Amino acid sequence: MAWNKLPWRKLEQHCFRIPKRIYRAKQRGKTRKVEKLQKLLMKSEAARLLAVRRVTQGNQGKKTAGVDGVKSVPPQELFALAQYIHPKNWKHSKRPLPVRRVWIPKPGKPNERRPLGIPVMMERSKQALVKLALEPAWEAVFEPNSYGFRPGRSCHDAIGAIFLAIKSKPKFVFDADIKGCFDNISHNALLEKLHAFPHLSRLMIRDLNPIIRGWCLYHRWVICTEAFNTCDHITFLQLKRWGTTRHPKKSKQWVREKYFIRIEERNRFGTYFNDEEGNRKPMYVVSHGDTHHQDYALVKGTSSPYDGDLLYRVKRLKQHPLVNNEKAKLLQMQKGQCPRCGLYFRDGDLLEIDHIVPIALGGKDNRGNKWVYHRHCHNEKTAEDLVNIVKQKAVGIHHK
Ligand SMILES: [Zn+2]
Repeated sequence: MAWNKLPWRKLEQHCFRIPKRIYRAKQRGKTRKVEKLQKLLMKSEAARLLAVRRVTQGNQGKKTAGVDGVKSVPPQELFALAQYIHPKNWKHSKRPLPVRRVWIPKPGKPNERRPLGIPVMMERSKQALVKLALEPAWEAVFEPNSYGFRPGRSCHDAIGAIFLAIKSKPKFVFDADIKGCFDNISHNALLEKLHAFPHLSRLMIRDLNPIIRGWCLYHRWVICTEAFNTCDHITFLQLKRWGTTRHPKKSKQWVREKYFIRIEERNRFGTYFNDEEGNRKPMYVVSHGDTHHQDYALVKGTSSPYDGDLLYRVKRLKQHPLVNNEKAKLLQMQKGQCPRCGLYFRDGDLLEIDHIVPIALGGKDNRGNKWVYHRHCHNEKTAEDLVNIVKQKAVGIHHK
């Protein structure tokens, strides 16, 4: 049987059923049952096939070769791989091959590098299999307010939970990593690079505004008015301090008059300029408060992808900060389902947009002609499209 003709939809459904049982057993404290189910899952052919598929096709790291230089595995070997990762082979298999250390550039810092380990396909498939079995058990006992490296949770849930925890009464808060966050924005570093006001202030405003807007757009999903006010206050103080340090002999009032203008009853760091038609226009550092927060469906305390509350997950998936606007709208139209396999999308699925009628066959590039697919399903659909395109070209049909 061909690899891509396997009943993937059925396999996925089957594979989702056992983790759900693991999750429930763990919740009820039935350790023996959890272990049994985990073994059952890892031995099941469905889980092994899916683990291999996840590693060899659906994974974003698929183009990176392992230490053995294998980039993509030919289909006939995928079955062998799925056989090989059966737990009964683990004791006899050789020591895992060493992980190759590859240095990749850090995002935004081309001169710095971070190490990345790439185990070979075999080890990665085993890891994926073990993850399938272990994750639902951890999920069942995780503290509801833990958000790092968990399926289906983003930092927005963490922010939202903190808000809910502290909104009603005053509490002490331990500040762990907030400094790093402000370092990344680094208002000071930006400000220090700039000098005389009228000319360079424009540069500064131009540099700062996209940062502030982007940061706010990302964070507006949770109730943030107060946090934004704090950011505005800090930004204001920093800009004011920047002014007074540049002119140590001048009074505070002098600095304020030189660098600040009054807009909507607030002191804004900015100036006026004349546009092409000679109209006087203000130009200033935008405030965080200008971005209004939108409601964000917070993750329910004990909710997890394994509890089967799929519609709720889909609702949240749409709002995920990393799902772009177009995908979000399409997800809504599709009611969270993949048009090819009919399964609901889940967190961690790789989603791709496809043209229903391919552009090469005269399809339009608008939303009415688009669907979101699982990456696997998209690959299958594209393969079919290509066959159709070739057929139509062969009979001489041309599209413009
Ligand atoms: Zn699908």
